[in-house]
Amino acid sequence: MITINNLSKSFGKLEILKNIDLEIKKGEILAIVGPSGSGKSTLLRCMNLLEEPTNGDIIFEGISLTDKKIKIDKVREKIGMVFQNFNLFPHKTVLENITLAPIKLNKMTKEMAEKKAEYLLQRVGLLDKKNSYPSQLSGGQKQRIAIARALAMEPDMMLFDEPTSALDPEMVKEVLDVIKELAIEGMTMAIVTHEMGFAKEVADRVIFVDEGKIIEDDSPENVFNAPKNGRAKEFFDKVL
Ligand code: ADP
Ligand code: MG
Repeated sequence: MITINNLSKSFGKLEILKNIDLEIKKGEILAIVGPSGSGKSTLLRCMNLLEEPTNGDIIFEGISLTDKKIKIDKVREKIGMVFQNFNLFPHKTVLENITLAPIKLNKMTKEMAEKKAEYLLQRVGLLDKKNSYPSQLSGGQKQRIAIARALAMEPDMMLFDEPTSALDPEMVKEVLDVIKELAIEGMTMAIVTHEMGFAKEVADRVIFVDEGKIIEDDSPENVFNAPKNGRAKEFFDKVL
C-alpha cells in the first residue's frame, strides 16, 4: 500500500526524521508508538504530504508522492486522516461536515453523499446527531464524526494521530471500538497511539520511534514483551 524509502525531514537545521524505511501492506494495521517529540506525527503527516519530506521517497499505491507532477489532492482523497483534536468545521452540522468534501470534490452528488453519510453515521452510532453542530457533541462523539467524515471519501488507507488523546477516559472505548471494527473489515491503517493495550490487541505490527528513527519494528508481542532496544524497554517499563 505504502512504501517509505530513506525518508528524512528537517525543520530548519533540526533533523526530525532520520532515514526512515517503512512499508505498510494492504490490510495491515500498524501502531506507531514512542516518546513525545520523537517524530511520530511528522512521520504520519509525511505519508499524505501534509509535511514535505526533506529527503527520500514515499510510494503510495505505486505512485511516488514526491514526484512534482502528481496531483497530491487526488492521492489525499485515498488517505483518510483523523487528528487528536477532531478538526470538525464548527459552523457546519454533522451531516454537512461529512458530505462537504465528497460533494465539493465531485465524488458524489448531494443525494449520494447524504445517503453515504447517513450510513456511516449509523455505523458509528450517531445517526440521531446528523443535524447537530460539533459544539453540541461530546469529545468521543466528535471523534466518531471525524472518522465518519474521513470514511466518506472511501479511502484506501486511514491515518490516526492519537485519536483518543484529547478524550475523557470514559469516551476512549467508544472511539477505539469504531477503529477496531474498521480493522476487522480490513482497512489499512497507521495509528499513532499511547493506548498500548489497544495496540497490542489490534495492531499486526508495532514500530517504536525514538529521536526520529524506527528502533523497533516487529509484532506487538515482541515489541512490548521483549524490546531489543534499551530506550524502548525503558519507555514500556514506564507506561505498561
Ligand atoms: P510526536 O508526534 O512524536 O510527539 P512530532 O512529530 O510532533 O513528535 O514532533 C517532532 C519534533 O519536531 C518536535 O521537536 C517538534 O517540536 C518538531 N516539529 C514538529 N512540527 C514542526 C514544525 N512545523 N516546525 C518546527 N518544528 C516542528
Ligand atoms: Mg504527535
